[in-house]
Amino acid sequence: MKGTKSGAASLSRGFTRRALSGLLASASASIVLAGQSAPHQRKILVAGGHPDDPETSCGGTILRYVDAGYEAVVLYLTRGEAGIEGVSHQEAARIRTAEAEKACKLMKARPIFAGQIDGSSEVTPARYAEMRVILEKEAPDLVFTHWPLDTHRDHRHCANLVLDAWFNLGRRQPLFYYEVATGNQTQVFRPTDYVDITATVERKHEACFVHVSQKIRENYGRNHGPMERFRGLEARCGSAEAFIRHVQGPGAVLI
Ligand SMILES: [Zn+2]
Repeated sequence: MKGTKSGAASLSRGFTRRALSGLLASASASIVLAGQSAPHQRKILVAGGHPDDPETSCGGTILRYVDAGYEAVVLYLTRGEAGIEGVSHQEAARIRTAEAEKACKLMKARPIFAGQIDGSSEVTPARYAEMRVILEKEAPDLVFTHWPLDTHRDHRHCANLVLDAWFNLGRRQPLFYYEVATGNQTQVFRPTDYVDITATVERKHEACFVHVSQKIRENYGRNHGPMERFRGLEARCGSAEAFIRHVQGPGAVLI
């Protein structure tokens, strides 16, 4: 009996160890899954160089997707460290991170930050690898990023990093480029796709205007406002956002 007990105890301990390691493995899988969206929920990822780029360029589109039940992830390459005159990088990053988080809350999007520095963003093998990890982990169904012909280095870098990750992960999802301040920053942008944002434009503006440090509200009538209306004219609706689809990705019609 003693031996049996001991054998049973040994078996039990062996079983327990195996069961425990199985449980731990499934628990860690659950943790990973818990940090991501539910398997059935589709997801968009919008990458931008600075807080305010995703909002001003495709905030109306983000809201259209969120309204349709999609999860929206907004990836900021930097925290806008160099974007407030007379303020330290650290303080500007604090202010602009808070603004980005507020904007994302209004859009019901999840903000993530890639950890680069505004005005000093890098395109290096390590940064390529970082972006690949982000894109692979998030595994969105649709990706949006800057059109790469742009006067701002951070915008170009963001586009290049996302494009490289997208290439290396097998061009799995449709990739769309967006315009920021066309004519001022975005260059030679010829849209292939439009999203009617008439129904979401007011909420988009609310999300844009929380970027108080960037005076978006004060300047909206000179850049993004006319863009929305002009793209609306082209798309024959009230207001629109425009995109260029990368032809090497899967075909897609935007919402
Ligand atoms: Zn920017």
